[in-house]
Amino acid sequence: APSGTETGEIIQNSQDYTLFSWSKQKGTNPIAVEHAEGVYLYDYEGKRYIDFSSGLMNVNIGHGDQRVTDAVMRQMQQVSYVTPSCVTKPRGELGKKLAEICPGDLNKAFFTLGGADSIENAIKLARLYTGRHKILTRYQSYHGSTNAAMTASGDPRKIPVDSQQATNFVHFDLPYLYRWEYGEENLLKESVAQLERIIAYEGPNNIAAILLEGESGSSGCLQYPKGYLQKVKQLCNKNGILLIIDEVMSGFGRTGKWFGFQNHDIVPDMIAMAKGITCGYLPFGCLMVSDKIASKFDDTYLPIGLTYSAHPVCCAAAFEVLKIYEDDNLIENAAIMGRYIDQKIDELKTKHPSIGDWRNTGLLGCLELVKNRKTKEPMAPFNAKPDDMVVMNKVAAKIRELGMYTFVRWNYIFIAPPLCINEKQIDEGLAIISEAISIADGEVIL
Ligand code: PLP
Repeated sequence: APSGTETGEIIQNSQDYTLFSWSKQKGTNPIAVEHAEGVYLYDYEGKRYIDFSSGLMNVNIGHGDQRVTDAVMRQMQQVSYVTPSCVTKPRGELGKKLAEICPGDLNKAFFTLGGADSIENAIKLARLYTGRHKILTRYQSYHGSTNAAMTASGDPRKIPVDSQQATNFVHFDLPYLYRWEYGEENLLKESVAQLERIIAYEGPNNIAAILLEGESGSSGCLQYPKGYLQKVKQLCNKNGILLIIDEVMSGFGRTGKWFGFQNHDIVPDMIAMAKGITCGYLPFGCLMVSDKIASKFDDTYLPIGLTYSAHPVCCAAAFEVLKIYEDDNLIENAAIMGRYIDQKIDELKTKHPSIGDWRNTGLLGCLELVKNRKTKEPMAPFNAKPDDMVVMNKVAAKIRELGMYTFVRWNYIFIAPPLCINEKQIDEGLAIISEAISIADGEVIL
């Protein structure tokens, strides 16, 4: 934006006085958002962007919902803060509601401020509960940027801070089907066998928990082979290992169910939540634990805590957001709209030779672009630095120019719009993506 304009000043202030996550500080090019409503963001020049990633896959109910603003205002006026040793009406109401929507005996909530916080506390509790120290996690996962959560992650974002790794984490591999030559059944068999071997090598009695995303998110929506999570749960049961499921991104309707793991017929021991619990209206998170785990601390000191745990205004926002999912049938809508997108992407595949793969569950989807469908050579390599993503950068720039906000990472384009989206808005968004990936089609080597 030109300097001297209102937009210019807004951007300049942020660039001069604030730091931007996950990027070089020179050359950032942010959208200055003036307001947002439903599935759209608007900048100060009045340009409209359709939000095809729901912010950071968190604004599941859509932007600017007055019902949440009202709930927040009411709670703010009544009491905006109490210490976590006091209670408020929304704290208990929210805990009860979460216990209702979570399956099995997952009945106790510890409220946090975000995803990484929930993961940190899950890891801590798993170690305390089992008296064991190791945590097994998957390469190509993301669990947050605090120390243990980042160590737990298998995302290349951890590489620059490799020297700061937390201790006692072991990673295992789960190759993705699109790039596995021997079919889904074989992938299931090999991956489970590998995990079994790792458990034996590490010593089952040393392993506190296995931590996995309910559905894979920012690593490219890499889906589990059918039956995989059930097999993992069986291995956990057999070896006295807890299963922690990270629903930070895949939770709260994103995959067409309340939680991603419900697509796999399992019940974990703990669920880490954030994002869609308040949809970004306020920062918040939750660690849901089973009665079995919670009761261990009935007569034993629980050594976890946060100044803002169970923040009353955040609890009120979350309680209202959960009501909106139900009142507006958003979870059903996510499943229906997800199937609609699947159909439309099938049509796009015939038109665009650069589309290698489409992986989607509900409204958590990712297009993978390739230079050649046979060799599957990616349009940009895994962990490509932004400067090296020449073609994908052009695709991303086109997407933005045409009025869309979404994530383009390596050779992936994420499609994860708010759950309130309708067919017409999906058509509008996919038309933008179709036009933008024509640029990538030009790079396909036949
Ligand atoms: N877990 C998953 C699966 C995520 O996708 C994220 C964030 O993207 C996190 C944890 C971390 O959440 P937060 O950024 O709120 O700390």
